[in-house]
Amino acid sequence: MNAFQYATAQSNASARELAGAKGMYVAGGNDLLGLLKDYLVPAPDILVNIKALPGMSQIQRGDKTWAIGALVTVAEIEDDPDIRETFPGLHEAAAEIASQQIRNVATVGGNLAQHSRCWYFRHRDTVCLKKGGDLCYALNSDNRYHSLFTGNTCISPVVSSLATMFAALDATAIVLRDSQETRMSMDDLYHAAWENPLAHNSLKPGDLITRVEIPVARHRSTYMQVSDKHTFDWALVSCAAAADVDGGKLSSPRVALGSISPVPHQVEAANAFLDGRTLDDATASAAADMILAGAKPLEHNGYKMPLAHALIRRALSKLVA
Ligand SMILES: Cc1cc2nc3c(=O)[nH]c(=O)nc-3n(C[C@H](O)[C@H](O)[C@H](O)COP(=O)(O)OP(=O)(O)OC[C@H]3O[C@@H](n4cnc5c(N)ncnc54)[C@H](O)[C@@H]3O)c2cc1C
Repeated sequence: MNAFQYATAQSNASARELAGAKGMYVAGGNDLLGLLKDYLVPAPDILVNIKALPGMSQIQRGDKTWAIGALVTVAEIEDDPDIRETFPGLHEAAAEIASQQIRNVATVGGNLAQHSRCWYFRHRDTVCLKKGGDLCYALNSDNRYHSLFTGNTCISPVVSSLATMFAALDATAIVLRDSQETRMSMDDLYHAAWENPLAHNSLKPGDLITRVEIPVARHRSTYMQVSDKHTFDWALVSCAAAADVDGGKLSSPRVALGSISPVPHQVEAANAFLDGRTLDDATASAAADMILAGAKPLEHNGYKMPLAHALIRRALSKLVA
């Protein structure tokens, strides 16, 4: 491994200054240390430990908005009884992530900024499109874990469970960029990965996620995923849904899917279609058809279509149960 400096930042400004253009932030280190050891990212000049940054380890509970600091761990989300009550889907998404040991140290910011799990990207000696090569090896090869939708020639999907749930909750990531706070929807946060094969997300060097704000607007929420393994595994497909339910009718519903696109996959027309409707099997099925319209299954990932369809129907049914 190449030599690099290591520093612990004590303020957001010093973190950004230390990182400069060629440094990287380290939070829980679950993803980053593997990337460095396998030479999957350019060697940074400096690793900036951000775990001492003030104010980023808290969960602020407002009447209209909650703010979850970027250093809050996945286990803290899973274990917080108020989150379980107010955003049950967020509790469910956190509880599905990896293993207890990883959840204990993995942070919200690191989870959102984790890199692609595509096995060609993760292979040290394969210079795929995402690493600046000419070819997406998955496209005509083993693409069983890859996207049904993409805006470019890289078919690696977003795998952050929290991002999928935050999308359904219409949450906003607050990112410190050039000393200014920038607000990014989950769509904004991953948009660059939709159009640029080299990008994992829309963060630029030095960008620091400080917190995620969630509106207290939808009182029912749920998260479901199917994986090869029951635990300690990323999703093959995940589905998050949130809404208010009033007299059996859905109000302000949002559905988001993970692991099928470089961005959490959302279809505003389907959300609008569901708004104000009483859910039955036909309605859930019609919404699932709308959400999956235009999908382009590849040779080995066609199984994701019925899986996603079933997850959407199940998640919507759970909202009104
Ligand atoms: C076996 C296994 C199974 C897993 N299953 C799942 C799963 O099902 N769902 C899921 O979502 N995840 C899963 N994960 C991934 C795991 O959740 C992430 O690796 C972890 O959340 C990363 O958090 P971290 O704090 O350790 O990040 P780090 O490794 O410290 O950082 C990851 C990246 O984020 C950047 N970063 C960190 N904090 C910030 C910040 N505040 N602002 C800007 N950039 C930042 C770092 O520079 C780095 O590029 C799994 C991991 C393993 C090993």
